[in-house]
Amino acid sequence: MATEFETSVRDWVAQNLPAPLAGARIDMYGVVSGDPAVKDAFDLWRRRLAAQGWGAPTWPVEYGGAGLTDAQAKVVSRAIAKAGSMNPIPYLSGMGVTMVGPTLLEYGTPEQKTRHLPGMASGEVRWCLGLSEPNAGSDLASLTTSAELDDEGWVLNGQKTWTSGADKSQWCGVLVRTDRSAAKRDGISFLMLEMKQPGIVTRPISLIAGESPFCETFFTNARARKDDLLGKLNDGWSVVKRLLQHERQSQTTAPATTNKVEPLQDIAKRYLGSNADGTLADADLRSRLADHLMDTAAHELTIARIMTDARGGNLEVTATASILKNSATDSTQGRSELLLEIMGNQGVGWETGEYTEEEVRTAREWLGGKAMSIYGGSYEVQKNIIAKNILGLPETTQKG
Ligand SMILES: Cc1cc2nc3c(=O)[nH]c(=O)nc-3n(C[C@H](O)[C@H](O)[C@H](O)COP(=O)(O)OP(=O)(O)OC[C@H]3O[C@@H](n4cnc5c(N)ncnc54)[C@H](O)[C@@H]3O)c2cc1C
Repeated sequence: MATEFETSVRDWVAQNLPAPLAGARIDMYGVVSGDPAVKDAFDLWRRRLAAQGWGAPTWPVEYGGAGLTDAQAKVVSRAIAKAGSMNPIPYLSGMGVTMVGPTLLEYGTPEQKTRHLPGMASGEVRWCLGLSEPNAGSDLASLTTSAELDDEGWVLNGQKTWTSGADKSQWCGVLVRTDRSAAKRDGISFLMLEMKQPGIVTRPISLIAGESPFCETFFTNARARKDDLLGKLNDGWSVVKRLLQHERQSQTTAPATTNKVEPLQDIAKRYLGSNADGTLADADLRSRLADHLMDTAAHELTIARIMTDARGGNLEVTATASILKNSATDSTQGRSELLLEIMGNQGVGWETGEYTEEEVRTAREWLGGKAMSIYGGSYEVQKNIIAKNILGLPETTQKG
């Protein structure tokens, strides 16, 4: 039976979700495909969610959240999904709600929280993350972008790359070298940087999937306020380690549960037909589909177990985020591979016409999904972290 909270959430969603939104699709920049009326409805929906504090439901009310528990926040997101829609705020805030915000909650001063969190929680301020550089990816501590303090604040020089949404963001969380004489990890700091200024140039990079979600970002005497240092000076490595845990945790949901998607087995039957007893006609595919569904279910159960353990204080969530990130990657990429196989020639379309929208989306998601084993720390690097921090194996070339 539904609890009082569940009923009140369901009623609120039913009363406040604008009608054109049920089932509408939204991409990572909050651009709604199709009708402009749908776009307006999304903005209304965003404002209503923000007023409820449901853009970042677990954050304190004073910072734009609703002070809900994780379980209550899940009730909210399930109610929204059940109504055939989604919450656009985490997307609109870029790296804000999922990564920079939770890190700020932990490391920020009260003034920094008041200044930055409400804009993320309402989806009005988009954040990007400037960590990777051309010569510092997996080995992030080799970064060379520098920041020096003068009378008016920080002066930044250098280059970042793969900065997702840099050209569309108002703010950037950037990792910089603040002490060249210290050991690699000890001379790094985390700054919050306003993107609209003459010292910053962004150049989008096109991807194989046809979109350009990220940029090269160049800093030439770019400026940050003195009090936009997050955490302690030269302790940016601790800040970013925590931030990356939040990033990995936000990437742990397997695809089949994030959206109201048609079950893979139903799609397979639609394309390949079924036997008289209703089972999928292709027996080999049937057994591989079953393997995939079991792996995905095991992944979801592992998330549930880890969350329970973490609440009971029995577990350090840090390294488990690496396990979950890799199993979510396996699940997502595995699903895309199976979908492509199910659709056969119809799964390689690039434009609608000969191919349905669903088929074109499948091809693009298959290509786009390749990035999942790279961003947020590559698949191999997560394995190194698991080997060292969970299995206790000896140090490799990767220190993590
Ligand atoms: C879609 C996408 C979005 C991204 N968004 C951002 C962003 O917003 N901000 C940002 O700062 N960065 C972003 N990145 C960059 C991402 O964090 C890096 O690509 C990633 O950390 C890997 O770094 P690299 O590309 O330099 O590869 P490299 O570090 O050069 O690695 C190349 C290969 O070598 C392997 N490898 C490297 N070291 C080891 C080791 N010690 N042991 C075993 N194997 C190893 C890697 O697994 C990989 O396969 C994004 C990347 C992608 C794909």
